[in-house]
Amino acid sequence: MRKGPRRLRPGLGAGGGELEPGGFSASGRRTPLRPLRLWLLLLVLAAGALLGLWLLWREVAEQGWGVKEQQQQQQQQQEIGGSQLAHKPRSLSSSQLKRLSSLVDLQRLWHSYLQPILLERYPGSRGSKQVQQFITERLRGLAASWHIELDSFEDRTPRGMVSFANVVATLDPAAPRRLVLACHYDSKYFPHDGRGRAFLGATDSAVPCSILLELVTALDQELLRSKEQGAKVSLQLLFLDGEEAFGEWSDTDSLYGARHLAERMSKASLRPGVTQLQAMALFVLLDLLGADGLTIQNHFSDTASWFERLVSIERRLHRLNLLASHPQEQLYFSRHPIYGPVQDDHVPFLQRGVPVLHLIATPFPVFWHTMEDTEVNLHRPTVENLCKILAAFVAEYLWL
Ligand SMILES: [Zn+2]
Repeated sequence: MRKGPRRLRPGLGAGGGELEPGGFSASGRRTPLRPLRLWLLLLVLAAGALLGLWLLWREVAEQGWGVKEQQQQQQQQQEIGGSQLAHKPRSLSSSQLKRLSSLVDLQRLWHSYLQPILLERYPGSRGSKQVQQFITERLRGLAASWHIELDSFEDRTPRGMVSFANVVATLDPAAPRRLVLACHYDSKYFPHDGRGRAFLGATDSAVPCSILLELVTALDQELLRSKEQGAKVSLQLLFLDGEEAFGEWSDTDSLYGARHLAERMSKASLRPGVTQLQAMALFVLLDLLGADGLTIQNHFSDTASWFERLVSIERRLHRLNLLASHPQEQLYFSRHPIYGPVQDDHVPFLQRGVPVLHLIATPFPVFWHTMEDTEVNLHRPTVENLCKILAAFVAEYLWL
């Protein structure tokens, strides 16, 4: 949804230049002219003036039309959810960043949100149902009063028919545009190992889920105020089910929840002529986060300016000494050239034109998809720092 290139206009300068042969008038002053040549000269001058006027008129008309067209385009973009380029964030001052960081509570994130999610929760399992209810109840307990929907469905998998449920929480369903934060809450299905251990997927993606829950808890009062003031851009959280493949990753065995929801939202209208999907101004996906020494790289050029905001927030928080165990200014968000795309829950949304920021550790954690992806292998300062950076990003985006 990038803005189209500006229309090319015929250059007045070039046309005007041809009609202003300086040598002609200069020589005219030097040599006395006979009446016929004088008439000819006047005729040429008159024709030149007319041509100049016509070109000027065309220029103004083109310009006027171009502006009108641009305005129409912008209006249309805003109406259909808008380009991320059209939205301007607010920069927080140092004191605002300090205050905001103090709202993020690592103990609450860890004990109230992360630990209850750290259980086996593959789609259709008892743990899945438990986590789904846990997320829903925690969101219902917030002052901002979230609108919560369950997108439940069944799909065919290599393990037969399985039931899935995405949790969709929207701060203000009536707002014309949405900043979307997403993660998957399912854990990959693995048989228990020889020691009876289940796969818990701490970074994949219990930590991202707990970061989202802590973030909206920390910003609860600010979000409530923004909703009461009728902000044009609201926040939406997606806790997606069935990201993981049951067998070999394929187009049909993976991203069950994201595929179902993107399809559904592309048909559900927010208001006449605008679908819920078109209302997504920016889709931020969190995955594989929580290990020590992680790096997050940019994946898309059209959202690079938003990635830059994260780079800048990390630097500003570092300079204010608000990040723990953070020895250098740029530790997580890396300005390296754009990293190739990584298949994940954003794909079905991206394919339908939603602008995406994919916040995933690359390279993946060393214990990715092993029984070692557990709480003991997480790095608390990294989790806390990422939550603070993201809280600042959301506050700047939503003008909280
Ligand atoms: Zn995974």
